[in-house]
Amino acid sequence: MKKLFKNLFIFIAVFIGIAILFSFTESGSGEAEKISMSTFISQVNEGKIESIVVDGEDLKITLNDEEETKEIVKKEPGATLSEILKNFDVDKEKVAGLDIEIKDNTQKDIFFGLIFPVLLPILLIGGLIFFMMRGVQGANSKAMMFGQSGAKEFGKDEKNKVTFKDVAGVKEAKEELKEVVEFLKQPKKFLDLGARIPRGVLLLGGPGTGKTLMARAVAGEADVPFFHISGSEFVEMFVGVGASRVRDLFKKAKKNAPCIVFIDEIDAVGRRRGAGLGGSHDEREQTLNQILVEMDGFEPHVNVIVIAATNRPDVLDPALLRPGRFDRQVVLDNPDIADREAILKIHSKQKPLSKEVSIRKIAERTPGFSGADLFNLLNEGAILAARQNKKIIDMEDLLEAIEKVMLGPERKSKVFSDHEKKVTAYHEAGHAVVAHFLPNVDPVQKISIISRGRAAGYMLKLPTADKHMHTKSEYLEDMSVLLAGFLTEKEVFGELTTGATSDLRKTTDLAKKLVTSFGMSDNLGPRTFGEKEEMIFLGKEIHEQKDYSEKTAELIDKEVSCFISGAAKKAKEIIIDKRDVLEKVAQTLLKKETLEREEFEEIVGKKIEK
Ligand code: ADP
Ligand code: MG
Ligand code: ZN
Repeated sequence: MKKLFKNLFIFIAVFIGIAILFSFTESGSGEAEKISMSTFISQVNEGKIESIVVDGEDLKITLNDEEETKEIVKKEPGATLSEILKNFDVDKEKVAGLDIEIKDNTQKDIFFGLIFPVLLPILLIGGLIFFMMRGVQGANSKAMMFGQSGAKEFGKDEKNKVTFKDVAGVKEAKEELKEVVEFLKQPKKFLDLGARIPRGVLLLGGPGTGKTLMARAVAGEADVPFFHISGSEFVEMFVGVGASRVRDLFKKAKKNAPCIVFIDEIDAVGRRRGAGLGGSHDEREQTLNQILVEMDGFEPHVNVIVIAATNRPDVLDPALLRPGRFDRQVVLDNPDIADREAILKIHSKQKPLSKEVSIRKIAERTPGFSGADLFNLLNEGAILAARQNKKIIDMEDLLEAIEKVMLGPERKSKVFSDHEKKVTAYHEAGHAVVAHFLPNVDPVQKISIISRGRAAGYMLKLPTADKHMHTKSEYLEDMSVLLAGFLTEKEVFGELTTGATSDLRKTTDLAKKLVTSFGMSDNLGPRTFGEKEEMIFLGKEIHEQKDYSEKTAELIDKEVSCFISGAAKKAKEIIIDKRDVLEKVAQTLLKKETLEREEFEEIVGKKIEK
């Protein structure tokens, strides 16, 4: 569309240019003075005229005075000069003495009388149509290209080559994928033994765990071309395009074998078939079918390996996971502490860190961070340092960056009244004190009443180890900690604020999960409630389907409330019991705004863990 406008602009500019040019040729008689017919006649009678040039309707006159003055006079259209002279009764002798030249003006007349008024609009309109057509054709050819995969090929790009060295941690995944690399490099070795080349590898992992990076690393290691397409690109614009894109993508890939086809975010097309309502899923279904057909259609020796990535393996169609398709599944977990250290090391290479920066400490403080979060953290650290015009990045910057990534930017400018500050201080102190005196809760790392993101204040806990499983008592105590802020406000001020809304929501969600997903309710027994099924209806996802009776629903409600009130009771006991400590923490917070672990423990003592 932009191009169309550009063309149009050029066209109009040229047109104006031509018009200006013509107006110049017209004004060649610029200096001539326009005179009336009667003046002309009298000049003829007085014998002042040297010569006359008849130029269409104009008579261009040159006088026989010193300066050879030029004059111009318009005659009536159609009338000839001799007719005019006769009509005005000019002396025959005088007329005979005139030097009259008649310019052949028919061509110019044709131009100005015909071509200009008739042909030009036609030209203009024609040109317009031409350019429009060209624009449409451009769009059309894009639409045609749509059927082609549009896959971005990362050929053997030596400069930006990613290899396993650039991927930190995820050892098991790397082991698995090394095999794939060998298949790509030396297929014969495997084929000779009758082994079947794996068709598809599915990378599973949360957002930012390095799936895309890993796929590129495999291509880099094997030194083969890499076709990259995202699942969402398949289902972009026209119905029926997805399938033909798949066909084209695989055709290209086969031509370039050995190579890797990488389908990112395959869940966009690979959702369980038949679960959706409405139009869009038909398109998805066709695309998915085509992927399956293509993968089945590879001859045994064709060395194309399809790598797909998703963070929603639960919604994938089982047909995708069948042997011969994506039968190899590689899980990329969020990094543990050692992996976090390794990832931070890789990404801090191009960044000037000060000597006192301890990568290990940062890794310790970032449980639950994905690879992308860590990358982001280093970047935020660099930005913070740059904003203070530093040449190197300090530990301080990185610690600040951790919190920024976790909770959003500090909002020092947000003005809180003294009373609001006081409420926040007690609220956070409540969280912290309850967390401190419950044995299964992680130690308190930091408390702050500086607003961050949407929170007025925050309390950070620090897991001492990466945890993969949680016990019921941990969950119950976590609920107590979550409720502590709310309960402290109630206890201290006798009134509630809206500041505890998200705490309450989190508590309720957790309690629901304990009952319906984890089977942790004794009264309801070891089963799950509610079938998770993906449905898309009018663009909205409907997640849960009830698979229990109304009576059970009531029981679930009761159990959830029971868990919550139990947790609240425990929290309240601590708040009342440790009121003096709480008071001290809150007052210190009001003074200092943030308390680090050491400062907090000075007030409350060392944490007794179980
Ligand atoms: P995903 O595709 O799983 O969402 P990406 O592969 O796009 O995640 O990862 C985003 C960024 O995070 C990468 O470009 C890389 O900088 C960083 N990253 C993630 N995991 C790792 C890792 N294991 N080692 C090094 N960098 C990583
Ligand atoms: Mg990705
Ligand atoms: Zn809170």
